[in-house]
Amino acid sequence: MQFDIQPIGVIRSPYKQKFAIPRQPRLVPEAKAKLVFCDEFNREEFVRGIEEFSHLWLLFRFHETADKGYSALVRPPRLGGNERKGVFATRATFRPNGIGMSAVKLEGVEYKNGQLALLLSGIDLLDGTPIVDIKPYLPYSDALTDAAAGFADTRPETAMTVSFTEQAETFIRTQSDYPELKAFITNVLKQDPRPAYKKKKAETQSYGMNLYDFNIRWMVDGEHNQVLEVTHIQP
Ligand code: SAM
Repeated sequence: MQFDIQPIGVIRSPYKQKFAIPRQPRLVPEAKAKLVFCDEFNREEFVRGIEEFSHLWLLFRFHETADKGYSALVRPPRLGGNERKGVFATRATFRPNGIGMSAVKLEGVEYKNGQLALLLSGIDLLDGTPIVDIKPYLPYSDALTDAAAGFADTRPETAMTVSFTEQAETFIRTQSDYPELKAFITNVLKQDPRPAYKKKKAETQSYGMNLYDFNIRWMVDGEHNQVLEVTHIQP
């Protein structure tokens, strides 16, 4: 049996590249996004009553990697990239059908200039991610406090600390449209976006990432990240 699935909407996210996106939703609460509905679903009826729910499940397509295949065994970053687990025992992005799911916070519903959108936060999704379904999060059924979670049984914490140079601080202060920019960058860097194999080394190296239309450069020194520079991405 085969079937087609069409997107119901698309995510507009500050994460413009896979690098530095947290591994799960709500690890970085300042990550705000809009879910913009496709024409067929661009009517308020489709979301009537949704604002009664604080959180939603999003089902989506890992569109950036979905055509790159999958393996039965994957190396979860949580295990340092050395140990293998079955793909269905992980949240790996390279998986049959390329479907992901994230429980995110609903901040509001917007209907502006004829366009319906959901305002979300705590997302772990790349800009342009196609959404295939939305369901309300039901604590009585979905919050399983006695669940066992194997190799991923705790929230991933790092010892990483974050500071900003004067240039970075000054630039961020002038971005009045992004009042949470500093907290956003801080929490993304606290997650330590480096690949698993890099984290093992006590390295001193600079990295770059894009958030919104900004380029952020930082230096890793042991367990400290110093944000060197924040600039506008050059077109
Ligand atoms: N919460 C989801 C789940 O459990 O299905 C996603 C978990 S997956 C481990 C999270 C990673 O997916 C992010 O760190 C990011 O690199 C990647 N990602 C997010 N959106 C994507 C997209 N549209 N295409 C490919 N990869 C994506």
